[in-house]
Amino acid sequence: MAYMACTVNELRPLRVLIAAPRGFCAGVDRAIQIVELALERFGAPVYVRHEIVHNRFVVDRLRGLGALFVDELDEVPDDRPVVFSAHGVPKSVPATAQDRGLTYVDATCPLVSKVHRQAERLIEEGRHILFIGHAGHPEVIGTFGQVPHGSMTLVETVEDAQSIEVANPANLAFLTQTTLSVDDTAAVVGALRARFPEIRVPRSEDICYATSNRQAAVKAIAAECDRMLVIGAPNSSNSLRLAEVAQRIGVPARLIERAADIDWNWFGEPATVGLTAGASAPEVLVREVLDALGERFAVTEEIADHSPERMIFKLPRELVA
Ligand code: SF4
Repeated sequence: MAYMACTVNELRPLRVLIAAPRGFCAGVDRAIQIVELALERFGAPVYVRHEIVHNRFVVDRLRGLGALFVDELDEVPDDRPVVFSAHGVPKSVPATAQDRGLTYVDATCPLVSKVHRQAERLIEEGRHILFIGHAGHPEVIGTFGQVPHGSMTLVETVEDAQSIEVANPANLAFLTQTTLSVDDTAAVVGALRARFPEIRVPRSEDICYATSNRQAAVKAIAAECDRMLVIGAPNSSNSLRLAEVAQRIGVPARLIERAADIDWNWFGEPATVGLTAGASAPEVLVREVLDALGERFAVTEEIADHSPERMIFKLPRELVA
């Protein structure tokens, strides 16, 4: 695309390549709508177990509407509704809510639920599951909570895949977290398949469309960029992976929560900067960063070519009926 030099206010020109797709995915969009609809239906406060999605801006906005975020169910009073986050929860959580007679709405992303069902089916077949993911991530905790203790083993790295001890190598299957690095996961899967040729491979990719598309979009623009800014929370797995993707291509990249986090010394005076946002980061933060860049540079914005996403997930019946 043609690059336009700009002399407005004698600011240095800066070309901003805006990755697409970026930002909200269908699962995040649905989870936020669920909290908003629950507030409409039940009035405030509506309790939300864990951050509904990993983004402070989103959480603060919902808090302003009357959502109360808690770590555990025992912080929810018996007479108030509770929403479970998009990352999914162990089976014990809805079971406890039911025992207590709580009104609850599950905002687990349908693509995470799909992995839960796959895990259950594999256990019914008597397989041991190797789960590729990051220790401590809420999605991993939720997925482990779908199956009996000891029936699933976490594999985080190629080294884990090469050293893990299994009781019966002929009876294995693997599944993955939805928000992993496509490239890292391919390497871990390669190591598992080399070691355990009989391992059951999932019928379809567990890394979700939104994660793969956002990583592909960063790869598509990285070669043209001197710097890459990724908008997302430090605990957002898919956002962290976007920064890693750029760094591995050799582009210095920073994960920022919003414009105020830009380290201008690090940023320097690049000719071209890439800009993207993780699946839980709202578009308003992209505009905020563009405005901040516009205060220091004569910015030319370019949206990178992309294939539009059309994924929409149905809302829970109890909120739309
Ligand atoms: S990143 Fe993927 S799995 Fe996670 S909420 Fe979005 S669509 Fe669902």
